[in-house]
Amino acid sequence: MSLDGAGAAGFTLLENASLRDRNTLRVDARAGWLAEVHDANAIPDLLGHPALHGKPLLLLGEGSNVLFTGDYAGAIVTPAMRGVEVLGDDGTSTRIRVAAGEHWDDFVRWTLSHGHAGLENLILIPGSVGAAPMQNIGAYGVEAGEFIESVEAFDMREHRVVHFDNARCEFGYRDSVFKRHPDRWLITAVTFHLPRAWAPRIDYAGVRDELKRVGIERPAPVHIADAVVNLRTRKLPDPKLIGNAGSFFKNPLVPAAQAERLRAQHPQLPCWPAPNDLAKLSAAWLIEASGFKGAREGDAGISSRHALVLVNHGHASGEELWALAQRVREGVHARFGVMLEPEPRIIGAAA
Ligand SMILES: Cc1cc2nc3c(=O)[nH]c(=O)nc-3n(C[C@H](O)[C@H](O)[C@H](O)COP(=O)(O)OP(=O)(O)OC[C@H]3O[C@@H](n4cnc5c(N)ncnc54)[C@H](O)[C@@H]3O)c2cc1C
Repeated sequence: MSLDGAGAAGFTLLENASLRDRNTLRVDARAGWLAEVHDANAIPDLLGHPALHGKPLLLLGEGSNVLFTGDYAGAIVTPAMRGVEVLGDDGTSTRIRVAAGEHWDDFVRWTLSHGHAGLENLILIPGSVGAAPMQNIGAYGVEAGEFIESVEAFDMREHRVVHFDNARCEFGYRDSVFKRHPDRWLITAVTFHLPRAWAPRIDYAGVRDELKRVGIERPAPVHIADAVVNLRTRKLPDPKLIGNAGSFFKNPLVPAAQAERLRAQHPQLPCWPAPNDLAKLSAAWLIEASGFKGAREGDAGISSRHALVLVNHGHASGEELWALAQRVREGVHARFGVMLEPEPRIIGAAA
């Protein structure tokens, strides 16, 4: 059943909804109810709707960082509010408020085409603007949190609008207060401040080499964006062509002494120092060395281009994808004594 309240009520509700086009791993799961919010002011009405009464609620953006291991019996709420608004420019920086339902990559391209620098390293990251603060999305040495002035959200527990300034977002590496309390706050809009003062950030993972390769010596923001697009396109499979959720495993943090022992046995293992006497290991290397790069079980696979990427070659179920991910984790653990953690949110019975 579909209840179309977008015009009058500011939201739409669909019963027994397919999620296949709403997650980039292309898992054919279903939701008991799916609500799309077109107007943030309508959230209290939506939450009071009889269809949602007593149901568990899950917040979902574009589904590029989730794995549904089965159907979701409760109600999924997706922000679909659109709009980009320049709030002001005081000569040193521009403040821009963006609705949660905008596509992140569209917004980055909008900033560049309107002469605002800062977000160029974050081009081509899939997903919605509303999800960007969630794990403080980052790439090529830059994090979204550096440019977020404030976040507007609806508190799903206390049923009221809440404003978070940057400090209250508690941004960390792929982390924020929102990530630590999933489904508590529905992020409805994000305000960015993009400083006029700009310096290229090109010291990370091949950006400088890529610029050199295309003959750019003094890059402008658009040149860096182009270089990042080239690097990302070469490295990561396009979810439009093959289902995936980007990096599926986090680089594991282990005690420094354990990293040293592993490096003594495997000098090629990439390893970076981390605070608190820990060390970060390359999950991609561990997976490849355990023989899983390019592995395939039915339609579930590990990309042959990048060992961190779990792929759906066609019709793999969420359960099958999760089962392969578990085998990879167990295989790496058996060989190296290190347990990998998934980066995407695992949703469903098996989670
Ligand atoms: C090919 C590929 C490459 C990627 N590369 C990167 C990368 O370089 N860097 C990086 O950081 N990430 C990367 N990712 C992961 C992903 O793009 C980001 O995590 C993105 O922010 C997810 O956005 P989404 O709208 O799809 O969120 P979803 O996957 O729908 O949701 C992710 C989490 O955020 C929550 N959420 C979503 N929207 C809201 C909201 N409005 N309010 C509150 N909670 C919400 C959900 O409940 C869930 O817990 C990549 C993914 C893919 C598929």
